[in-house]
Amino acid sequence: MSTNTTPYIGENSPLNQITTYFNALQSSAEEYLFVVDLDSKMILLSDNFMKDFDFPSNIVDDLDNLMMPFIYHDDREIFEEAMRDIWTADKGETVQCDFRLLRSNGDYGWVNLKMTIGGDEFSDQPEILSGVIKRLDEVAKADYVTGLLRRSVFYSDLTKELENQNAHGAVIVIALDNFNVITENYGHKFGDSAFRQIAQNITNVLPPDIHLYKLDGYSFGLFMPDAMPEEIEIIFASVQLCMREIRNVEDTIYCTASAGAALYPNDANDVTTLVRYAEVALEIAHQKGRDQIAFFEKEAYDRWRYDIGMQNLMQNCIARGCEDFFLCYQPQVDAKDGRLLGAEALLRWYDNDGSVVAPMQFIPMLEKSRMIIPVGHWIIENAVIMAKKWQHYMPDFQMSINISLYQLEERMFYPFVEDCIARHQIDPSTIIFELTESHNIYDWDFVNKQFAAFHDLGIKIAIDDFGSGYANIGFLKNFKCDLIKIDRMFVENLHESEFNRNLLKYSIMLCHSVGMEVLIEGVETEEEYLYLRDECKVDQIQGFYFGYPEMEDVFEKRFKK
Ligand code: C2E
Ligand code: CA
Ligand code: CA
Repeated sequence: MSTNTTPYIGENSPLNQITTYFNALQSSAEEYLFVVDLDSKMILLSDNFMKDFDFPSNIVDDLDNLMMPFIYHDDREIFEEAMRDIWTADKGETVQCDFRLLRSNGDYGWVNLKMTIGGDEFSDQPEILSGVIKRLDEVAKADYVTGLLRRSVFYSDLTKELENQNAHGAVIVIALDNFNVITENYGHKFGDSAFRQIAQNITNVLPPDIHLYKLDGYSFGLFMPDAMPEEIEIIFASVQLCMREIRNVEDTIYCTASAGAALYPNDANDVTTLVRYAEVALEIAHQKGRDQIAFFEKEAYDRWRYDIGMQNLMQNCIARGCEDFFLCYQPQVDAKDGRLLGAEALLRWYDNDGSVVAPMQFIPMLEKSRMIIPVGHWIIENAVIMAKKWQHYMPDFQMSINISLYQLEERMFYPFVEDCIARHQIDPSTIIFELTESHNIYDWDFVNKQFAAFHDLGIKIAIDDFGSGYANIGFLKNFKCDLIKIDRMFVENLHESEFNRNLLKYSIMLCHSVGMEVLIEGVETEEEYLYLRDECKVDQIQGFYFGYPEMEDVFEKRFKK
């Protein structure tokens, strides 16, 4: 069997270099094989692949489109998603998916597509993508270790079940936790026999007409027509008991099971979605600490998908220099006379549909993924540029910038700030760093040292959201800062009671007594303003009463009045 070497692949293409191996491999493989040169996007197909699907040549340039008509319509999205994922994968990463592919007899059969990105051993640059498409219905129907039916049979049996009108029930996946530790410690032979025993025990606790199927790795699948969540929980409790029994075989074994369940038709009514949802639920059971069952929840899943999507978009946005982020500026005024003192820079993000997303929806994600570090640099750079510009109209204009704790932890943060101040030749005493509220400051000593260093540089320090979280009065005595920002919540409940009014008044007195200035956030009405000014003697105010966060050009009009 030989591969046509057509002129399409360049001499230096990695495809040329591997042709010999590829030919040797394909002559002994039943699977469909393909290799993609990521540089030229040329794709080399195995002969059986070309012939079975009547593709025009062994070398093609758009496999996605060529294959699409042969893929079962409900599964096309799965295939497209896998293709999208592999294009953005790094070297060494694998992406796989199952879908139904047209067979020569006109039926659709389940296949598994597995793709891996490879490349030169000397560079991280991905060069080549190799793919294998395996027909699941042609591999042995039963697993040789457990004797259980395999995934392809699970899929086809479940497909039949779902063809019944009014079918309702549950799809469940069960995975053994830490089982690989057992094979690691006791060897594969013991592992296999323990696994067989577990499979047998689980089968025994299932109702007689329910089959257990073997899925990938140490996991099982099953579906239970007409089952209610309560029944499923009871059955899972029995599975947990089985796991304890296996400990009797060898008393040092500690192995538990987790499970995920999705309900049909409520969650979905097609095989692939149901199995995927059950796997999502399994992942949740894992996250909650294993040894438990979780049910698929559409709302949480959609939120998670949204976050993942947003994370992806933000990653791209950062790579393009943060171009979809922008800053709004909210005025901060002198409480005595309402005179403008400066602004707080507040981050916004344009979603890909052009809508503006508020920071509470993405800052936690930026922090968790540490993307706040590059974005934080961008925020400081731009806020400093704007402050410098506006100091042209108002030399003592102050700019408040929110700083996340994760930024403080980064080694390059201080030198970056120092350099930014020098480059823009801005007076550091016009810059205020606000430490954004966070519950997890463990190392106050470190935070204090960081702030002291910025203080020495001349930058002012503000404690944000005072009174809403970690920050309380007791903590003021060992924290060096210039300004306390009292949270909006205190203003919101001013009218509720005399106690609230006194609490605010005395908190402000206390801050003043230790030499700190106080800014109140969230002032929305004249009544609130007058109370704060006359009774509380607060120093600065920020709130809708004096101005909303505004775009740069809108804010700038304040100087030109
Ligand atoms: P924050 O630092 O407490 O910012 C004040 C928030 O209160 C802003 O919401 C502002 O629009 C809102 N606000 C101000 N005055 C009023 C008022 O009178 N009434 C009401 N109802 N709300 C008022 P925003 O812009 O949505 O920001 C939310 C939070 O996101 C900020 O709270 C801050 O924790 C975080 N954030 C915003 N920008 C950044 C940033 O550049 N970096 C970091 N790390 N966090 C940021
Ligand atoms: Ca703030
Ligand atoms: Ca605040």
